[in-house]
Order: sequence, then structure tokens, then C-alpha cells
Amino acid sequence: MLNDECVHPAAKTSTTPHPKFRVAICGGGIGGITLAVCLSKHPDIQVDIYEAAQSFKEVGAGVMIWGRTWQVLTLLGMDKTLRDVAGVALDGPLVDPPFGFDFRRSDMGHDHRIYLLSMPYASNQYHRAHFLDTLLARIPETVPHLGKRLISYSHGDPTGSIKLKFADGTSATCDILIGCDGIKSTVRRIMFQDLADKGQPEMIKFIEPVWTGEVVYRALIPMEHVPLRAGQKHRVLTRSTTYCQHLTAYPIAQGKWVNFGGFVTKPEACGTPWDKPWAAECDAHELIEHFSGWEPEVAEILELVQKPLRWAIFQIRPLPLFAHGTVVLLGDAAHAMTPHQGSGVGQAIEDAYVLARILGHPSTTRKNLCEALKAYEHVRLPFTNDVARQSAEAGAVSELRGSTGDDYARFAHSLRGLWTWVGGEDPEAQVQRAIKRTRHQEKVAAKALL
Ligand SMILES: Cc1cc2nc3c(=O)[nH]c(=O)nc-3n(C[C@H](O)[C@H](O)[C@H](O)COP(=O)(O)OP(=O)(O)OC[C@H]3O[C@@H](n4cnc5c(N)ncnc54)[C@H](O)[C@@H]3O)c2cc1C
Repeated sequence: MLNDECVHPAAKTSTTPHPKFRVAICGGGIGGITLAVCLSKHPDIQVDIYEAAQSFKEVGAGVMIWGRTWQVLTLLGMDKTLRDVAGVALDGPLVDPPFGFDFRRSDMGHDHRIYLLSMPYASNQYHRAHFLDTLLARIPETVPHLGKRLISYSHGDPTGSIKLKFADGTSATCDILIGCDGIKSTVRRIMFQDLADKGQPEMIKFIEPVWTGEVVYRALIPMEHVPLRAGQKHRVLTRSTTYCQHLTAYPIAQGKWVNFGGFVTKPEACGTPWDKPWAAECDAHELIEHFSGWEPEVAEILELVQKPLRWAIFQIRPLPLFAHGTVVLLGDAAHAMTPHQGSGVGQAIEDAYVLARILGHPSTTRKNLCEALKAYEHVRLPFTNDVARQSAEAGAVSELRGSTGDDYARFAHSLRGLWTWVGGEDPEAQVQRAIKRTRHQEKVAAKALL
């Protein structure tokens, strides 16, 4: 069980002379860094992160961490620090208070609550940069290698090792390559191209991300800029609010900012090419014209947005596999999803925890490594693909399109059903199932050899 707050001392200063595995993590976003934190608890595993950028940084604003992911962070011994960062009381109840969303119909110019969704689950909200910094403080100093953009990998060494090549002309070797390189993953590209070249041409479609037809205008608004409403705090400072159809706003970083996202969707454009930059600063008028005439409290927030970031929303098609030999995908590289349930970061963290626990388990060896990686895929792939499906559907429901339309009773019923994954099988149970499966598959393979 992983439960100590600190990095293992052996991992902090040196790498083991004869490690059980040499793991290369391609990409140092929240997924890759969490994986490094988890693996550095195992002194017999050598870990290196190869990050394309010259520094670790998070683009974007808020991040929601649901209770199930919180369990993982607690097992990693990070709960106290993160509670501090989020401003959640340390002496509060063991189970945090449940989280809710205020869904309002706002495009008709007057106040109208559709549904107050109160979930039986907790959630904490962070500024992304604060969250990443908390993780970075826990990785051993020997682990990161910056300015290392992976351009290719190849097998072929009789020992089974993988050779990595980087854009700066350097190379490295490893036993396991873990693609944590985000939605445009190079590791996924090479893996699925290879499968296509070897007789499965249908694998090509999993390489490129797909534009969902959605654009989100994002901004962080300082709390002190948000005006009072009838002498009271504005709603968005006290609770997460979804103004249909649809804008979201919620407080982050102990209420210092409001994290704002205004969505503009053309469902008929889903799957068509997007020919502008994926993310670009734009003029506030572009945003305001989409939401003019909405209820007054929306107008008050829109006035505060100076230079929003316009993000085109992409996802990848649900992958049929995450692991191929000793190469495996994690986080957005494996299941980039829409942001409608704030689930992408949490799922990357859970992948990292489950994979590290499997690799670090004493029963996982070089002999059964491929079975172990397939066991990770077995427990994580259906779960994460389902989260991605529910997230996309939650977006459609929030826009009063799809099967519920503006039937508010069905809207409420549908929304409640779309959060079931938060209470689904927890990551530690997935670890246990994967370890059992590895043993079983190993026995099956041994029998087949007889
Ligand atoms: C608009 C928007 C809002 C979102 N809001 C939320 C939210 O509220 N809550 C939430 O949980 N999720 C949210 N998400 C999703 C979340 O951002 C992602 O799921 C999460 O950041 C994925 O983490 P990752 O580590 O897998 O990938 P990334 O964060 O994309 O990290 C990938 C890393 O790999 C590096 N890299 C890329 N290629 C290479 C290469 N060839 N070689 C080496 N390094 C490479 C990159 O530089 C980067 O550092 C949102 C996403 C979007 C688009």
C-alpha cells in the first residue's frame, strides 16, 4: 500500500543498480507527474520523465477532483497538503460534504432554476498550476528530463528494451514506455500506425483527435471583481453554476477566482476539420455576442471577462486497446474526453495509481510484464471509455439537446444518471482485480506452452 508522504530515499538520490524495470514516461502533464510520484515509491523501479517543453507547466485554469480520485491522493499521502491548497478544513468531516450544481435556464432573459443537482459525492476545486506544483514537489530530482520531445521509438534489441529518439538528436533506452503525452500523443500515433501497418488498417482512425463541434471560451475572474447582487455574494462565488445552454462558473483556489467557461456548440460540425489554432486568446466581444440577452447575473459575469481563451474541444475515439507489448498509454493519450464533468485529470491520476501499483507489485516481473500491462488495460479501458461517453452526454444534456430536450423532469433524471461513474469501482479495487488477472493470464499462458 502506498501511504507515505515522502519520496523513497533510495529514489531521491540515485537509481537502483539493477532495477526490476526501467520505466520511461513520455510527457510531464498531471498524468505523467502523478505516475512518477507513484512509481518513485518503489525503489526497485527506475523512472525517467521525458517532457517536450523546457519547463513543467499547466495551461488552463480550474481542475475538479472528485472523491474517488481523492482516495488515490490520500493513499499517496498528499491529502493534507492538497486540503491546505484547496482551503478545505483539515478537521472537517472524514467524508467531505457532497457537491452540487445549480442548473439554470438563462437564455430566456429571466431567472429560472431548472434543477439543483446535489450529488452524493464530494469534489474539491484547484488552480491547475497549484495542483501541478504540489505533485512536482514529490518527484525525485533525478527523474525529469526537460526539452526531450519523443519523435520515435523502436524495439529490436534482443533484451527486449525499447530505444527512444528525441527531437534534439539524443536517445535513451527503457523496458517500458508509458505514453502520457496528451491528446496528440506521439506514442499513440506510433503504436496505432504500427498495428495498421501489420494488417489492421482500421487502427488508423484512432490516431487523430476529433473536433466535437464545440468551442469553449475560458477565463479566470478575480473574486474581488465580481459584484454583489442585492447585497449578497454573486451565485458563482458560492456554488458551481451551469447556465443552460450553456456556461459554467465555479469558485477555485479558496474562492480567489471564478473559473469560467462559455460553450458554443455546432453539433452538426462534430467530426469536421477545425482549421484555427486549438487554443487562442480572443476578443471578449466574440464571447459576449453569443450570450447577449441572457439573465442579468450572466451579463454581470460576462462584463468581467477581458481576453478569454478560445479552446476548440477535441476528443479521441474510444480506443480498443491501451497496451501493446511493453508500450502503454495513460491519461489523455489513452482517453482524451470532453470537459463537461471535469473528469479528465482525475482519470489520468487514477490510471497512474493503478498502473504504478501493478508495476510495483512483487508478483509483477519481466516474465509476466505484458500480461500485467494488459491487466491494466482490462480494468481501466472500459471504465475510462464509459466516463468519456457520460461526459459527452452531460454536455449535450446541458445544452438541452439530445434525448431530453427542454423537458426539465427528464433533464434532471438524465443528469443524475450521468454521474454514476463517480461512485463506480474504486481504483484500489481495480488494482486488486488487475493483479488477480495477471496471475490468471500467466497460468493460461504457461498451460498453452505445455
Ligand atoms: C477546455 C478544457 C477544460 C478542462 N477542464 C477540466 C477539468 O475541470 N477537470 C479535469 O479533470 N479535466 C479537465 N480537462 C481535461 C484535462 O485537461 C486533461 O484530461 C488532463 O490535463 C490530461 O493530462 P495528461 O497528463 O494526460 O495530458 P497533458 O496535460 O496534455 O500533458 C501531456 C504532456 O506531454 C507533453 N508532450 C506532448 N508530446 C510529447 C512528446 N512527443 N514528447 C515528450 N513530451 C510530450 C506535453 O508537453 C505535456 O506536458 C479539461 C480539458 C479542456 C480542453
